[in-house]
Amino acid sequence: MAALSDIQRIRNIGIIAHIDAGKTTTTERILYYTGRIHRVGEVHDGTTQMDWMAQERERGITIVAAATTCDWLDHQVNIIDTPGHVDFTAEVERSLRVLDGGVVVFDAVNGVEPQSETVWRQADKYRVPRIAFVNKMDRLGASYLGTVAAIRNRLQANPIALQVPIGAEQAFSGVVDLVSLQALIYPADNAPAAPTVGPLPEELAGEVAAAREHLLEALAVVDDHLAHKYLEGAAITTDEIVAAIRTATVASKVVPVLMGTALRNKGIEPLLDAVVRYLPSPLDMPPVQGVHPETKAVAERRPSLDEPFAALAFKIVTDPHAGKVAYFRVYSGAVEPGATVLNATTGKRERLNRVLRMHADKREEVKDPIRTGDILAAVGMREVATGHTLTVASAPILLESIKFPEPVVTIAIEPKSRGDQDRIIDALLKLGDEDPTFRVSNNQETGQTLIAGMGELHLEVLVDRLLREFRVQANIGRPEVSYRERPRKAVTVRGRFVRQSGGRGQYGDVTIELEPRAQGAGIEVATRIRGGAIPINYLPAVERGLRRGLTTGVHGYPVTDVQVVAIDGSYHEVDSSELAFEQAGALAIAEALKASGTDVMQPIMSVQVVVPEEFMGEVLGGLAAKHAAIHATDIRGGTHCVSAEVPLAAMFGYANDLRSVTQGRGTFSMEFSHYAVSHGVGAAGGVLAQV
Ligand code: GDP
Repeated sequence: MAALSDIQRIRNIGIIAHIDAGKTTTTERILYYTGRIHRVGEVHDGTTQMDWMAQERERGITIVAAATTCDWLDHQVNIIDTPGHVDFTAEVERSLRVLDGGVVVFDAVNGVEPQSETVWRQADKYRVPRIAFVNKMDRLGASYLGTVAAIRNRLQANPIALQVPIGAEQAFSGVVDLVSLQALIYPADNAPAAPTVGPLPEELAGEVAAAREHLLEALAVVDDHLAHKYLEGAAITTDEIVAAIRTATVASKVVPVLMGTALRNKGIEPLLDAVVRYLPSPLDMPPVQGVHPETKAVAERRPSLDEPFAALAFKIVTDPHAGKVAYFRVYSGAVEPGATVLNATTGKRERLNRVLRMHADKREEVKDPIRTGDILAAVGMREVATGHTLTVASAPILLESIKFPEPVVTIAIEPKSRGDQDRIIDALLKLGDEDPTFRVSNNQETGQTLIAGMGELHLEVLVDRLLREFRVQANIGRPEVSYRERPRKAVTVRGRFVRQSGGRGQYGDVTIELEPRAQGAGIEVATRIRGGAIPINYLPAVERGLRRGLTTGVHGYPVTDVQVVAIDGSYHEVDSSELAFEQAGALAIAEALKASGTDVMQPIMSVQVVVPEEFMGEVLGGLAAKHAAIHATDIRGGTHCVSAEVPLAAMFGYANDLRSVTQGRGTFSMEFSHYAVSHGVGAAGGVLAQV
């Protein structure tokens, strides 16, 4: 059985960043320095190891959160890749669920960008301890302390500077480590070689002394032991400083900040040292929460080998050779490879037949026990999907599932042939296992398949995979807003499906009560039939029909924020069938929605725009034309940040508009906020007027 000390030496980390800050390059260098890959891949060559899917290489962005294991200072570091684009916030959220600590990469020139704020808030939500890496110190205008200040002011965090730069911009050549008081100087030719460790450069003595004092003061505020010694003027050892930083980081009281330039191979080893020294091990984590899958009684599991096994499947990848690969994180207990586990989400048992540890360049079959803290990949499980819990039947737990935002953008796909239609269905089933954030529906009038996702880019990537990986031939529509419908009032309606033609007829009859629920409350469907008016064995069919009916409202959009209860009905000894009752359920919904009338609801996004002052007029004017509700504008050192709520329909193409009115100097981010009644949409799904 694995020793506790082994688990103490695991670090499960994510590298989190605004797109373009240098996450891919930094990850690449980490894998290089940890000795697992032997060639430094460049993003622009399209050879990076983490971005292993074809379109990721082409786009130069990272979509899939794969996990990669590497070793540093006798520790096992598992890197869970996280995407930088805001369209993929669900991917970020799901990786935050399974990692114990984060390295947040900032661009030393741009500092804290709007999307960095978005991911920072998500990391706050999951209480992920973090260290920061100020990358691109070689760039003109790079500022380590400027970025530290931005982390304090914009992110309301408590950053502590652990280093002093040696040289600036082009001449950036290394750092002084304020903990050990050593200077690390890198080769001038940018070769990926270890730095020379030397004494402090004399000209930095004053700056270093002040920065060290600053560090000790900051630690004294959060660490009583250190405070005591500091106030007494007693000598403080390096070990004591390290211990204080570690405790405060694990408790999210401070964010240690390091610097370097990944591209020029400077500052990576100190970053890795900091990961091992300051970020938590799985044993430092609080218990995970869940419920008993049957009794629903609240349950939790401590990160301990003594607890029953519990793991979360957080990522499914369909590999053309291996089939379904399920990445999972173990929260408690241990099992042997080959053991049978219970999938608490489906209720089915599965064997952990082949379990792999994924390195950047190879896969290694795991022969030791699978234990608390591990992040591994299981091959060949049949019915596993993202968010499922793997546990033991003797002491099962269902972990809190991963919450994903609403898919708000839809794209229509028209297969070119019957064969393509089948391939689309097959491909969407597989992609659905990997990515639970998109929804599929059918437009019965046009025969089109509709895919709803979280943003334009999200859909573009999905469609790209359909066409290329799954070789589907299809016409693709333009991305459109996903509208919803909400009933206006409560109604009671009867749905009857009766056919009498020659042989056996069809008979289904159901009465339902349908009423609106509060905005954002979602769908609730129940059957409460009085006195056996419909036999129990037909009730699942009735419910299926009701749910199917709700996928298409009066205007052709999915219905939401609605409660439906089947209360009465009748049946026929011979002619009743499941099919007839399903039809009756769907008919009842159609009638009920007609009777109640529906409001068309549109997604409203919360948007943040950051622009230099001189463009504020243009930008505010542009937002006003989009019927934006402006909530706040605030000024951050010469740039203005506007927060607003804007209908998604008005936001298509905004990236281009903003670029042209601000000469490329404005940036924005947006995320789904809520659905609200839309007044510009007419019958049969036609958009009469743009909002
Ligand atoms: P990601 O989008 O966060 O994954 O960022 P990438 O790693 O793809 O880097 C974005 C761009 O910044 C690429 O063109 C990199 O070559 C460049 N880059 C990364 N690190 C550095 C650095 O330390 N200095 C400079 N000057 N450029 C860098």
